Parts: sequence; C-alpha cells; structure tokens
Amino acid sequence: MATVRVVHRQRALWRQCHRTAAIGICHLHTTTTSSSSSHASSSKEHYKVLVLGGGSGGITMSARMKRKLGAENVAIVEPSEMHYYQPIWTLVGAGAKGVASSGRPTASVVPSGVKWVRDKVQEINPDTNTVRTGNGMEISYQYLIVALGLQLHYEKIKGLPEIEDWVKFKIGSNYSVQTVEKTWSALQNFKEGNAVFSFPNTPVKCAGAPQKIMYLTDAYLRKTGKRAKANIVYNTSLPVLFGVKKYADALWEIVKSRDIQVNLRQNLIEVRADKQEAVFENLDNPGETKVFEYEMLHVTPPMGPNPEVKGSLLADEAGWLDVNKETLQHNKYPNVFGIGDCTNLPTSKTAAAVAAQSSILDRTISKVLKNEKPDSKYDGYTSCPLVTNYNAVILAEFDYSGQPLETFPIDQSKERWTMYHMKADVMPHLYWHGLLKGFWGGPGPYRKIMHLGMK
Ligand SMILES: Cc1cc2nc3c(=O)[nH]c(=O)nc-3n(C[C@H](O)[C@H](O)[C@H](O)COP(=O)(O)OP(=O)(O)OC[C@H]3O[C@@H](n4cnc5c(N)ncnc54)[C@H](O)[C@@H]3O)c2cc1C
Repeated sequence: MATVRVVHRQRALWRQCHRTAAIGICHLHTTTTSSSSSHASSSKEHYKVLVLGGGSGGITMSARMKRKLGAENVAIVEPSEMHYYQPIWTLVGAGAKGVASSGRPTASVVPSGVKWVRDKVQEINPDTNTVRTGNGMEISYQYLIVALGLQLHYEKIKGLPEIEDWVKFKIGSNYSVQTVEKTWSALQNFKEGNAVFSFPNTPVKCAGAPQKIMYLTDAYLRKTGKRAKANIVYNTSLPVLFGVKKYADALWEIVKSRDIQVNLRQNLIEVRADKQEAVFENLDNPGETKVFEYEMLHVTPPMGPNPEVKGSLLADEAGWLDVNKETLQHNKYPNVFGIGDCTNLPTSKTAAAVAAQSSILDRTISKVLKNEKPDSKYDGYTSCPLVTNYNAVILAEFDYSGQPLETFPIDQSKERWTMYHMKADVMPHLYWHGLLKGFWGGPGPYRKIMHLGMK
C-alpha cells in the first residue's frame, strides 16, 4: 500500500510540475531526508563535496560521493523540482512513450541524507572555494563537482513564436520538456507538404537526436498512409550526416532508401510562423539563404555553455568547464572536477558519456583524497542509439578518436530491434536504478567480456 501511495503522489507531483514547467515555475514541497528549502540571504554552509546541478551527472556523482564520504559530507544545488530522463524524449516526440515516463521528482533521486539545496547557482568563486546561490546563500566546499549541463537557445532563432503557439504553427522540438509533446502534435496533424528538421551550428547534446525524430516521422507517415504526400527534409549545419564514418555510411543508405532529402551546411536562422516558412543560411556561403515552406518543423535549438560556468574562472575561452580530458580534474583548480554536458571534453555530449565519465571521476577523486596523482583515463566513450524506426536502432558507440568502441560482438551499424528494445525498455531502468544510484559506470567491463578480453 505504501508503494502505491508513493507512486500516486509522484504522479500527482509530476502532473502539477509539468503544468507549471511551461512558465518555469514549479515550487512544490516534498519532504525527504535530504530536502532544504529556501535560505536566508545571510546563511552559510560548508561541505566536503559540493555538487552543482542535479541532472544525470550531478545525481550520479552525489550518489558516488555519498558512498565514499558519507551523506552528511555531500550537498547538491539544483533548483528544479523534477528530474528528467531526456533520452526518452526522442520516443515521446514520436508518440511511442508518454512524457510522464521521462520525469521523477528530484526529491526521489537525490540520495537520501545528501543535502539538497533547492536553489540556483548564481556565482562560482574557485579562488575562495565558495558558491553563491540565487537566494544569496554562500556555500563553501573542499571539493567541487560541476555538473550544470548546457543551455538551450531557442531565442537565437529569429521569429520563433512563443512555445504556447507552437501547436498552431506546427512546430515541435524534442529538446525540452515544454516542447517535446508539440512534436507529436505536429506529427499527428500532418496532412501534406514538407516535414523539415534542423541541426544548429553549435555543439549539441546527443548529436543523433535531431535525425532520430526524422526517421520516426518517416515511419509514422508511412504507417498512416501519408508518406506519398510528404517530403522529408533534413537540413544540418554539419558537413556530414553523422560524425563517425561507420554509422554515417549506414545512415546514408537509409536516407536514400527512404527518399529523405539531406542538405548539409544549412543552418536554421529564422522562422516565419504565420507563413509556415523556415529560413536556412548556407554556412559555406554566408548571407545566402533558402526558404522552406513546412507542414511540420522540428527545431533543434542552438546550444551553448551554462552561463554560471561561462561567467566564472572555471571556463575555457569558449565558456565550457575547462577539465583534463583524461582525469576530469579542472585544469587550473585541482579541487574542482567536471562531468557531462557543461565540460569541454571533446566527445559527444550524452548520458552514456556521463556514465563512463562517472566511474573515471570516482577514481580520480579517490586518488586526490589520498593526495595521490589521478591515474585513470577517460577514453571519450560515448554512445548514441540512432532510432531509425519504431522497432529499429543502430547503436553507435565510439571514443575520442571517433573510432567505434562497440560493446557487442556484432556489427552495430545494422538496424536491429534488439537495440530498439534496449533503448526503449532497458536503458531507462539502467538510468534510474543503475546510473543515478552510482552503480553504472558504462559498459567498459562488459565490452571486455563480450570480446573475450580483446577490447
Ligand atoms: C532529445 C534528447 C535525446 C537524447 N538522447 C540521448 C541518448 O539517446 N543517449 C544518451 O546517452 N544521451 C542522450 N541525450 C543527452 C543526455 O540527456 C545528456 O547528455 C545528459 O542528460 C547530460 O547530463 P548532465 O548532467 O551533463 O546535464 P543535465 O542532465 O541536463 O543536468 C544539468 C542540471 O543542471 C541544472 N542547472 C542548470 N543551471 C543551474 C544552476 N544555475 N544552478 C543549479 N542547477 C542548474 C539543471 O536544472 C539540470 O538539472 C539526449 C538529450 C536530449 C535532449
């Protein structure tokens, strides 16, 4: 009975949060052993380990730090009442999963006993080992783990209407919880014309996601008998369809066989919503633009560094957290570490990368705690399950050098339903019960076993 009550409560909380998320307000109060509400502006606290950001990387590292140092020595700063498993939004946008399945109250994922500061990081001062929050609270730390993710910049696309109007204007975007269901609306409302998909001229998280929804759109329109009246157009800023040749070759075969038009080096710069037109700039000939009428537009927004990282001494020139690419230790401040999308690690930004990074960072911090030199080396492992149909996935896995680093002893560039099952059903469990609890550090050890120790 107790479990049922908790589930009901979580669902109610989710519904309330989701309704308010669109306007960015969600002040629900849950009680957990780890909760902390707003603080007076004069308050001060100190923790041995302070984690900034309660997304994939932040929750994972707070669970690992709790195990290492005890819950009372760890605090996490995160303003959102809800935690989202973003990878499932690809399937939410295509109507294969409900958006409710992607979120859980933050209170339920912060490790019990770890202090949750429900506030925004306002300023990071690595010279004084302090962080100031939005409410004016000052928190000092001995070790800092930065996991603040990246920032979406929908506002940089000229003319993109207010999110509330997207359904009317047939626009969707799988990249945020406020917009992901609008993709599914646009797909269902499609009658005939162009379905246009964009990929921005910036680093992005999950570089495969902008095209996964395109394959699912193609599949949905075939299933509903509308494909003959549809023209599917993928306009990407990149000079390639995918960054790793082995998978790019497989994807080119798919786009050809499904009659999908791919235009390289095209960047979405403007939306004329009232005319249902999207304006793309040719990056190889700046100033040259092309207008596409659309019946459905999927926007992948420009993305950039987290502003609190960018505005601090921890940032590199481009604004990303400046960490050592092997140890994840900050390049200038040895008591500062980073994980995930906020860092300048030269690999594709994914939750799979966060998993592999978490086990490395765990070992790096163990060494630093013993005053020893960090010796573990992150190889850049990242993964992208390229959903190509409602029952097919190409499981891309690769490292810093862009070379495939596959877990299974089969050709992973082939479309497989087993991999779809893994993406849709297995990985969410691995996320909630393995990664966030600090038990899943990526498939490295399994890869070795699967390849009989040869990889
Ligand atoms: C549509 C889509 C599909 C994806 N598909 C995949 C996939 O198939 N496989 C995969 O591995 N990955 C996928 N990803 C990427 C994956 O979700 C991210 O790479 C991962 O969540 C990064 O974790 P993170 O901790 O770095 O950032 P996040 O999980 O985004 O967490 C950042 C946290 O920082 C908090 N924060 C921000 N600013 C502040 C502040 N000032 N103060 C305090 N807290 C702050 C945020 O609220 C957030 O909770 C996908 C993402 C999207 C959007």
